Amino acid sequence: MSEPRLRIAVQKSGRLADRSLELISGAGLRVMKGANELLYRIENQPIDLLRVRDDDIPTFVADGVAELGIVGYNVLAEHFPDADLEAMIVQRLGFGSCTLKVAVPNEADYTGPQWLDGKRIATSYPNVLGAWLKTHGITAEIVEMRGAVEVAPRMKIAHAICDLVSTGATLEANGMKATDLVLKSEAVLVKAPHAPAPELAHTYDMLLRRFDGVTASTG
Ligand code: ATP
Ligand code: ZN
Repeated sequence: MSEPRLRIAVQKSGRLADRSLELISGAGLRVMKGANELLYRIENQPIDLLRVRDDDIPTFVADGVAELGIVGYNVLAEHFPDADLEAMIVQRLGFGSCTLKVAVPNEADYTGPQWLDGKRIATSYPNVLGAWLKTHGITAEIVEMRGAVEVAPRMKIAHAICDLVSTGATLEANGMKATDLVLKSEAVLVKAPHAPAPELAHTYDMLLRRFDGVTASTG
């Protein structure tokens, strides 16, 4: 029987991938980039990195396939619209900051959220947007798109969009302006609902202390 190993689910490639690995090396874990693309071994601890699409991280962690995961708050909130997210979150990580915003074409006579009533809004975040519309008492049609949401108004698919924004350059390039903040996001460390196997408890506690230390020192 091989020794049990902890698993941390991380984004394989993308905006969170490098910073996730930095956090992991910052915690003193030596990552062995092996032949296995899905699983990277940690040389000096009984830990493996499960490298997946960010969208799969909430499921892997909630199902206990990985004891920990690093994922954007936005992805977590969309995946678990009704869950107690604070109970899943171990800590906020201070990177991957972005905002989910409503945006409309520059020429729109936008006066406030009520403008959206009865309109069509394209987004990859139907649950988060739906909840925001509800709190504002707005009834709008949500058009779910997986990517290239910013082209929807030009393609006449929607009147407005709700998308992740960091600099606003993409909006500007597509003749749109951000109007409302729907969600503020950053990368978060999430944990499985059940405690790790007893023989891994020591490694798990050590890891959480070190992550906390790294995050505190990098601000
Ligand atoms: P994957 O292939 O893993 O599904 P993806 O294309 O869905 O990747 P990325 O674009 O790599 O995702 O973004 C990952 C996360 O980075 C986002 O969910 C968000 O939390 C964060 N992020 C930070 N800034 C931005 C931004 N400007 N646009 C999009 N996401 C951002
Ligand atoms: Zn994704």
